[in-house]
Amino acid sequence: MGQPPFRASQLSRHFFGRYTDQTDEMSDLPQASREPLAQALLPRLLTAERELSCDGGATRKTLWRTFDGALVESVLMRYPDRVTMCVSSQAGCGMGCPFCATGQAGLTRNLSTAEIVAQVVAGARLLADGQIPGGNAPSKPSRISAAISPGGTHPPGPPLGKNDPPKPPRISNIVFMGMGEPLANYASVVAAVRRLTEPVPEGMGISQRSVTVSTVGLVPAIARLAAERLSVTLAVSLHAPDDELRDTLVPVNRRWQVAEVLDAAWDYAAATRRRISIEYALIRDINDQAWRADALGALLAGRLAHVNLIPLNPTPGSKWTASRPAAQREFVRRLEAHGVPVTVRDTRGREIDGACGQLAASASASSRTPAPSPVPIPSPVPTPTPTSAGR
Ligand code: SAH
Ligand code: SF4
Repeated sequence: MGQPPFRASQLSRHFFGRYTDQTDEMSDLPQASREPLAQALLPRLLTAERELSCDGGATRKTLWRTFDGALVESVLMRYPDRVTMCVSSQAGCGMGCPFCATGQAGLTRNLSTAEIVAQVVAGARLLADGQIPGGNAPSKPSRISAAISPGGTHPPGPPLGKNDPPKPPRISNIVFMGMGEPLANYASVVAAVRRLTEPVPEGMGISQRSVTVSTVGLVPAIARLAAERLSVTLAVSLHAPDDELRDTLVPVNRRWQVAEVLDAAWDYAAATRRRISIEYALIRDINDQAWRADALGALLAGRLAHVNLIPLNPTPGSKWTASRPAAQREFVRRLEAHGVPVTVRDTRGREIDGACGQLAASASASSRTPAPSPVPIPSPVPTPTPTSAGR
C-alpha cells in the first residue's frame, strides 16, 4: 500500500493493544492513510446481532453475524479475580453430540483465525470501555469452586497503587468452549492461540497457560497439539467412562474410544506438564450413576487430571436434564474418594441461553433444518427408589 513498514506495527498496536479498528482513534496515523489502511487491513468481520447480559451485567453473551451470514456466539464472564472469555471456533459443529444445541444444528463452516481473534478483541473492548461491571456477581456453589476456566486463575493485572485510579480489568482466561470443535479447525485455532498469546504488537499478550482448548477427543489432533510446544490447557469432553454410553453421547467415540482418547490426553499432559481437564456434563439418570463415578475415578486416579462437572443445560425440546443434587454430590464424593480433584462448573448465563449454541439455535430456528441425530438418543433410565434412610 506504499506505506512505511512501521505502519503495520502501529495498526497492530491499535487492534491488539487498544482493541480498536476505529480510524478516528488512530491519531498517530496520517489522516489521509487512516481510512484506506483500516479498510484494507482491519475489515469488520463480526457484527453483533444480539447482546444479552445477566449476573448484574458481569456475564455478557454476544451473538455475532459473520460477513457471510453465519451465526456464532461468544461469552464474557467477569469474576472478582479473573475475566474469562468463551469463544467459538466454528459456526456450528459437525460432531453431533445429542445433548448439545450446536451439535444439533450441524456444521456451517470453520471460522478463520481472524474471526476467532475478533471475538476476544471485542470482549476486551467491552471491558476496557467499562461496560462489564462488577466482578462480584453471585457465582459459585459453596464447597466446590466455580471453574469455567480450568486453566487456573490469573489476576487481571498488576496490583493498583494507593493513588491509582481503578483500571478496568483485562481478559485473563480464554476457553475454546463456545460453538464448534476447535481441533476440527486445527490450523485456524492454533494460529489464533498464537495471536492471542504473543505480546503486543504481534498479539494480545494473554498468557498461554490461561488458554483452554476443549475437545471432543480427536486423537491425532491432540497428538499434533502436544507437539506445538504451546502451554495451553487441554480439556477433554469425556461425559462417560464407558464406550457403550460414550458412543451415544459423543458419536465420534466410535472412531476414537475412551482408552485411546485418555492415552492421547496423558501424552499431552506429559509433553506440556499441564493438568488435563476432564469435562463431564452430568445428565440425570444417563451418566450420573454412582458406578460410573467409580469407573471414572478408576480411569483417572493418579493421573495429572481433574474433573470439571457441568450440570447439563437442557437444550430446547430435550428429554434430558441436569442431575439431581444428591446424585451430583455423590458423584463428587466418589471421585474424591479416588483422589481425583473435582470441581462443579457454575451455571453462569443459564437465563441467556448460556450453553453452547443455544442462542444461535434460537435465532436461526426458523431458517435452518436441524441435522438428523446420528445415533439413537437413550431415554433416561428410571432410578430405583432410594431405600436407605438419610439419602
Ligand atoms: N466441541 C468442544 C468444545 C465446545 S463445547 C467440546 O465438545 O469439547 C464445550 C463444552 O460444553 C463441552 O464439554 C461440551 O460437552 C459442553 N456442552 C455442550 N452442550 C452442553 C449442554 N447442553 N449442557 C452442558 N454442557 C454442554
Ligand atoms: Fe460439537 Fe462440542 Fe457440541 Fe459435541 S459438545 S456437538 S463436539 S460443540
